[in-house]
Amino acid sequence: MGKWDKFCQSCGMPMEKDAQGGGTTADGSKSVKFCSLCYVNGKFKDNFTSSKEMVGFVKGILKKDGISPVKRWFYTMHISKLERWKS
Ligand SMILES: [Zn+2]
Repeated sequence: MGKWDKFCQSCGMPMEKDAQGGGTTADGSKSVKFCSLCYVNGKFKDNFTSSKEMVGFVKGILKKDGISPVKRWFYTMHISKLERWKS
């Protein structure tokens, strides 16, 4: 078990916060790695190629939600360590 296993391995959202309980894989089963906002039918909804793009995207959403800059940083600091963005 890695430190970030309970988080979406793309956007870093806690999987328990995903109302759908996870994204869907190509065969229609639930994904335990990626949330429903990131991953549908085996494909990522965005075409980001780096964690930086994802961090910017997530920070934008948090900003709209009225989250403070410090919290925006805190909620996105682990994104570069997630499986999708490794290597
Ligand atoms: Zn996600």
